[in-house]
Amino acid sequence: MKDFLIIGGGLAGILTAYNLLLRDNSLTIKIIDNSFDSAAWRVAAGIINPVSGKRIVKTINAEDILSSIIALNTLLSEQSGKTFFHPKPIIRIFRDNTEQNAWIRKLDNTAEYEEWIEKYDTSFLHAPYGCGIIKKGGYLDIRGLLKTMMHTIADKVIFQTSTFGANPYNNTHYTKEAQTVIMCYGWEMMYNPLWSFLPFAPFKGEVLTVKIPKQLSDEFILNNGTYFLPLHNGTARIGATIEHNQLDYMPTEKSKNKLLQDFFSMTGIKPEVVDHKAGIRPGIEDRYPVIGRHPHHNNIFILNGLGGRGAFYAPYCSSLLADFLLSEKEIPAQYSVHRYYHLYR
Ligand SMILES: Cc1cc2nc3c(=O)[nH]c(=O)nc-3n(C[C@H](O)[C@H](O)[C@H](O)COP(=O)(O)OP(=O)(O)OC[C@H]3O[C@@H](n4cnc5c(N)ncnc54)[C@H](O)[C@@H]3O)c2cc1C
Repeated sequence: MKDFLIIGGGLAGILTAYNLLLRDNSLTIKIIDNSFDSAAWRVAAGIINPVSGKRIVKTINAEDILSSIIALNTLLSEQSGKTFFHPKPIIRIFRDNTEQNAWIRKLDNTAEYEEWIEKYDTSFLHAPYGCGIIKKGGYLDIRGLLKTMMHTIADKVIFQTSTFGANPYNNTHYTKEAQTVIMCYGWEMMYNPLWSFLPFAPFKGEVLTVKIPKQLSDEFILNNGTYFLPLHNGTARIGATIEHNQLDYMPTEKSKNKLLQDFFSMTGIKPEVVDHKAGIRPGIEDRYPVIGRHPHHNNIFILNGLGGRGAFYAPYCSSLLADFLLSEKEIPAQYSVHRYYHLYR
């Protein structure tokens, strides 16, 4: 019998396994993953943006979250000689007066925002309402990170490629395999009877890979609601759309045209598209991750709700879960599954 069975080998699952082993190298872990080609982590751009949304708000615990990303990157770089977190300032292009005014208010609030944002004037972008710089942005090379992590923990972990079916028989079967089961297999957990009491709110996204246009600097990430993320290999990502009603993995012409139009309105450039993908983000209604113990089954745990910000949240949230599992360190209220216990019948 293993100490832990982790269902779902995406950002949530692999980072949780890594964090558990970091704290106790003698643990035995099995990870089950269905190797699905369009899983969110395989499609995601990996943008890290601590100051986001229409109201331009710094995320709660942004300092701790960024520290977790940097610490993880440092540790893995020492182990592998590779870098996974690439800091890059984000030019935020305002879409209307509301965003522009929100930005000005945040600039005035120097105590909270001075470290995070600054004024910026552009001559190379189209920004009729102005723009500004988010200083501590960047991106995480998710695929590189998970591949390296899996390699690092390979001798401690059994990886099994199979699909977990959430019927009662299977739940009993899997809980017999390990003392503790951690479920983190993305948005389809909404169909698992154990967790269906949670207010899941998954949403589809589409993302393009393009060649970086020669006219554009690759020093900045651009954002006017749609992101332009220059990567280090001569390509860039443009994404992502948000679609709540159509939960499928089909890339559409409509979304492609929207992304290209948003990019054109910032830059006046029509880039060459080399790839187009769709995925589904595991969202929760209040947009915060859910971490913790099942209200009824003592040995079953969850890490889900990473939404459109898994690259940003996963290093921090998987550490919180590992500390909770091994040291019973309390999970901060806004991330804890406790906040939804009242919905469980
Ligand atoms: C288009 C798009 C763009 C995005 N861009 C960004 C971004 O720029 N920045 C950012 O921070 N986040 C971004 N995200 C969000 C990010 O990808 C997710 O938050 C993150 O991947 C969630 O991680 P997860 O491990 O919870 O779930 P997933 O990534 O969905 O991983 C779940 C894993 O479980 C496996 N699995 C699923 N069902 C089963 C089953 N029944 N049995 C066994 N295994 C199973 C899957 O194959 C997968 O490996 C984006 C997502 C999309 C779709």
